[in-house]
Amino acid sequence: MLPQPPAREPTLVADDLGSVLREYMDVAGRLQRTHEALQGEVARLRRELALKDRELELRRRLAALGELAAGVAHEVRNPLGAIQLYSDLLRSQCQARELGPALRLIDKIEAGIQAIDAVVEDTLALAPRDRQLHGCNLQVLLAGLEEAAQRVLRAREVRLVVPTLPEKVLVLADDSGLQRVLVNLVNNAAEASEPGQAVELAVDVAPDAVRLMVDDHGPGLPDGIRERIFEPFFTTKENGTGLGLTIAFRLVEAFGGELAAENRPGGGARFTVTLRPARADDVQAGPDAAAECTSAA
Ligand code: ADP
Repeated sequence: MLPQPPAREPTLVADDLGSVLREYMDVAGRLQRTHEALQGEVARLRRELALKDRELELRRRLAALGELAAGVAHEVRNPLGAIQLYSDLLRSQCQARELGPALRLIDKIEAGIQAIDAVVEDTLALAPRDRQLHGCNLQVLLAGLEEAAQRVLRAREVRLVVPTLPEKVLVLADDSGLQRVLVNLVNNAAEASEPGQAVELAVDVAPDAVRLMVDDHGPGLPDGIRERIFEPFFTTKENGTGLGLTIAFRLVEAFGGELAAENRPGGGARFTVTLRPARADDVQAGPDAAAECTSAA
């Protein structure tokens, strides 16, 4: 009679097979999850790369546009100065002869000169090459902001909420340039708001960066628009120029800082200006500046 196999043998094989299968399923599951995580990471890196590419392209375009703009602005400014001078002379002669109707015409000419000068100012701001940077007192700038932006704030019936800083905060910029950036952001925020809403400013001071946030309660920045807002001449407004954010971007870049836009989780847009902290005696040429700095502005 042949020897019988041990009675437990088939169960052992089935058990082993079961645990191998479980192990296999477990490893396969982990592999699948790793694969998915990797795929997610690749997609994220692709998006980041596309964003950086777009940013680089935007910087290139802005630099080229800035060069052109600076050339045109200088060409326009010279004859404009002469027109202003002759208009002043004409005004004094007409005043001496009490020529009322002629004086009213001169007022119109001067309004035109001022309008052209404002365009030249905008154009020059696209090429902020020779800016000399110094320690700007943020509290002073913030205190004057409501008045500087009052035209749009009043027209839109929007409140501006400005924080009180517990201590003096100095940032590397130039006063008129930084005011221009902030007025631009506040104007845009007010234009995106409904009457009665508030535009809120916040300041975050860290040892290596000062961040200024301009928040609104408007519709925010839809996809497809958010990527384009810093492009020159991009506007969704009927009477917009599409230059406000381009100029702000260029100016902040000239301060060695960054301007970024995002949607807030609770709704509305947030624009963040990140600047370098400064000391009271700081005087520096901006990163774009070719000129050597000599003295504080
Ligand atoms: P303009 O104000 O002349 O349109 P800007 O360069 O200042 O030019 O702004 C470009 C576009 O960015 C605006 O037309 C608008 O679509 C969008 N934008 C800017 N700020 C905001 C904001 N706070 N909320 C929503 N959209 C905004």
